[in-house]
Amino acid sequence: MRTLPPGSTIGILGGGQLGRMLAVAALQLGYRCIGYAPKGDNIARDVCTDFFENDWSDTAALAAFAAKCDVVTWEFENVPLSTVHALPETMLAPGPKALEVAQDRLNEKSFVEGFGAQPAPYKRVEDDADFARALEMVGAPGILKTARDGYDGKGQWRVASAHDADGIRFPGVACVYEGMVDFETEFSVILVRGYDGEIRFWDSTANTHDSGMLSSSILPAGPLVEAQVDAARGIAGQVADALNYVGVLTLEFFATKAGPVFNEMAPRVHNSGHWSIEGAATSQFENHIRAICGLPLGGTETRFASIEMRNIIGKDALEAHTLLAEDGEPHLHLYGKAEAREGRKMGHVTRVSHEAGPASA
Ligand code: AMP
Repeated sequence: MRTLPPGSTIGILGGGQLGRMLAVAALQLGYRCIGYAPKGDNIARDVCTDFFENDWSDTAALAAFAAKCDVVTWEFENVPLSTVHALPETMLAPGPKALEVAQDRLNEKSFVEGFGAQPAPYKRVEDDADFARALEMVGAPGILKTARDGYDGKGQWRVASAHDADGIRFPGVACVYEGMVDFETEFSVILVRGYDGEIRFWDSTANTHDSGMLSSSILPAGPLVEAQVDAARGIAGQVADALNYVGVLTLEFFATKAGPVFNEMAPRVHNSGHWSIEGAATSQFENHIRAICGLPLGGTETRFASIEMRNIIGKDALEAHTLLAEDGEPHLHLYGKAEAREGRKMGHVTRVSHEAGPASA
């Protein structure tokens, strides 16, 4: 791939906060961005030169969008495959195979298992009878998840006991039922891979979730994660190579006493990497742009002894400016969303410290 000269145009599929932060990084490197997403609160629009608000199936709009771009990437892994296939494949970075694998939890699990990853025990579920069998084989507690279109804990039903499962109406779409993992910490491996196959990893944070949604990412992640990161990186690196991946790729794991258990993969920049804006030599957003534009990758080293990133959810965003008065130089990022709905990611705050111990202390 050639290096894209300054002034080139990056197309971004999806209009959310990840697209917005990618576009900010791209602007800094002298590129311009054009977004594409269906009508909605497309906050990436604020930092794009142009924005197509069209349906994913609007082939004429997609052709007009592609005609203006030098490379096209995405910030959202549920962009329909038909949309991606309507664009010239040579323009896409990463390539469409990564989306094909990651859009279906069952595909994703078996693909990553091929590289030695161990997921939670799971069974494909297509109907009520399958669900009953899966409960018998995998046992409870567990989680029923839609195979496609889930994110941030959506499309998931927790099953505390077999008795509890009686109250769950099978959603009528392909699902996976998986055993509940008894983990100590969650962590993700975030890497960037260039066209030449070079891979760099960021440090892995300890991640905490609330109702299936990320709430914080903390460094250092602690001894258990540190002991398991190399094995998890080995898997993630093989996945990236097998996909001939270009850009930032994320694999999420549970750190258990028995080793890392694979949870899921995101073929994109990730919420658990937001700390890298202030905390790493080069952020995940800048390195994604560098990778897809054929520029040299930047260093991924952590620059502080301790880092804490917290998401700002729902109405908490209305008071978020008060955080700036707190000690420890909090770095505030608000995404400019119109409505502070409950459970909606509105922004995040990152605290960094040269002192060991909690960055928020
Ligand atoms: P997911 O969308 O699959 O990443 O699930 C969201 C969150 O729910 C995860 O980050 C975990 O906190 C929790 N979770 C999902 N699957 C499992 C599992 N099999 N065992 C324990 N916790 C889980």
